[in-house]
Amino acid sequence: MDLQQLLDNARRNEALLHRLQAFELQLLSCQSWSDLLRLLLQGLPEQFGLDDIRLCLVDADGQLYQSMGQSLTPEQAPWLEALEFVTHLPQCRPGPVAVNPPWHSGLVLPLLRHERCLGKLTLFSTRRDRFGDDMATDFLQHLAAVIAACLVMVEQSEQQTRLALTDPLTGVENRRGFERLYTREWARGLRQFHEFAVILLDLDFFKQVNDQHGHATGDRALQALCNTLRQIVRPSDPIGRLGGEEFALLVPGCSWSQLDSLVPRIQQAIRQMDVRNDSGQRVTMTASGSYLVVTPRAHSRIELDQVIRLLDKYLYQAKAQGRDCFLAARPPN
Ligand code: GH3
Ligand code: MG
Ligand code: MG
Repeated sequence: MDLQQLLDNARRNEALLHRLQAFELQLLSCQSWSDLLRLLLQGLPEQFGLDDIRLCLVDADGQLYQSMGQSLTPEQAPWLEALEFVTHLPQCRPGPVAVNPPWHSGLVLPLLRHERCLGKLTLFSTRRDRFGDDMATDFLQHLAAVIAACLVMVEQSEQQTRLALTDPLTGVENRRGFERLYTREWARGLRQFHEFAVILLDLDFFKQVNDQHGHATGDRALQALCNTLRQIVRPSDPIGRLGGEEFALLVPGCSWSQLDSLVPRIQQAIRQMDVRNDSGQRVTMTASGSYLVVTPRAHSRIELDQVIRLLDKYLYQAKAQGRDCFLAARPPN
């Protein structure tokens, strides 16, 4: 190799090192799965002229997949399909790997954190000489270590966010969490010309349940209610605790006629809940509520607060009509 080639090589390496350092700074500023996955799946191939990449993550209990699914917007959900989740990953060493056409060279980088393998990143190129046996991988291993650290950091940050949006007693969304999902559903409904139903419900005479059977029985009733609601709607349909014993359900794609059959099923399931007091005696419960269908329109945004205020009025009437009663609310649009 002559002097000019050596100089050219050195210049190329220096430029690559600068790009890597800039990329690592971007990685370290990621706070959500959305930030991190966008950077890895789109930024990395773009910024380093890669033809494709594959990110494989170890997820023995499915928690990582669930956390990403909850955090990504519906449009970002296909990113999950671009990732590979495995329960266990055999040890691999950083370096070139055999690849199939259309790729002609590839490089695998294990993502290690405190000697634990979190996954692996594979880079693909259509150029045969892109990832050769003689390639220095030390700076790419550094990149892999930063990616691994960011995976752990973002996972913790997402856990904190989830906690802040979840009701600790029942595990359903709290008001803020429900509001976030309402906003998401509004945006999706707008794009896909989709309507969605909101159902508000409040347990009847709940104060008496607490007074007669104690607060612990009341708590069990709230948990039983949420478990019951979860079994009636789809797992992805948001359930929110808006206040003490006031809950809301958001049912995407649910029309008025579907509501007419869904609401009585909810009422019936609540009447049949098996809630026991501290002595093991069954405590029967009923709920009252109100419901409507929201049709998102571009120029007349309806906030969750407006929906709940309207539903509250009908809920009040349902209570006045003797309880164990649900009323349809006049739609605001
Ligand atoms: P109504 O039929 O009109 O809804 O009457 P109610 O007794 O259900 O309503 P009220 O608003 O008078 O009482 C609500 C009760 O809910 C009072 C409060 O102590 C209780 N509550 C609120 N949060 C919790 C909780 O987390 N656990 C328990 N056990 N009780 C709660
Ligand atoms: Mg009540
Ligand atoms: Mg109430």
